[in-house]
Amino acid sequence: MFDTRELGRRPGTLKRLSRTVEAPDNLGVEVIRVPRGAPLELELRMESVMEGVLVTGTVRFPLAGECVRCLEPLAREGTAEFQELFSYPDSEFSPRFADAEDEEADEERLFLQNDLFDLEPVVRDAIVLALPLRPTCRENCPGLCPDCGARLAEDPDHQHDEPIDIRWAALREFAEARASDEPAGHDRQAKAPRASGDEPQEK
Ligand SMILES: [Zn+2]
Ligand SMILES: [Zn+2]
Repeated sequence: MFDTRELGRRPGTLKRLSRTVEAPDNLGVEVIRVPRGAPLELELRMESVMEGVLVTGTVRFPLAGECVRCLEPLAREGTAEFQELFSYPDSEFSPRFADAEDEEADEERLFLQNDLFDLEPVVRDAIVLALPLRPTCRENCPGLCPDCGARLAEDPDHQHDEPIDIRWAALREFAEARASDEPAGHDRQAKAPRASGDEPQEK
């Protein structure tokens, strides 16, 4: 909770502040998250505007997770920016949301409560949006050997002398072919160019 009383209600008044808060629980996703209780360093700029207080800020946060390629634990730091308007509860009509069709925006409107505002949901959203989708321990992490699961980073020349069973080799080719496809998701099949030997797609 942050207090806006010192700011006053005169539009144009500005106040900056820095504060460190503890990370709440469940901030992040399985592969990457902010550890609970970790410090979130907030830099805030509060500006009194006609309909409330406009809060602009940045947050720095530590992240912990696993590399999606080699599954090694990783730690790094992230930053996120946010901006939110907290309306005065008594400002019936705010020009910003006067458009009646914009009901959704109106529902998501945040209010000051006794001159206080709760920044947690705002910071939480900002951090979640800033999370890396596929965190890796380093750029170009080579990942794991597809045959035996060895970490290729520790053993770059790693190879298997004995070609593995032919059926496995065929499977691997299949897997590699798929991997080189565009990672387009579900409609990959529909859009994939016809491979030679396939049944004709068009008559
Ligand atoms: Zn890795
Ligand atoms: Zn191997």
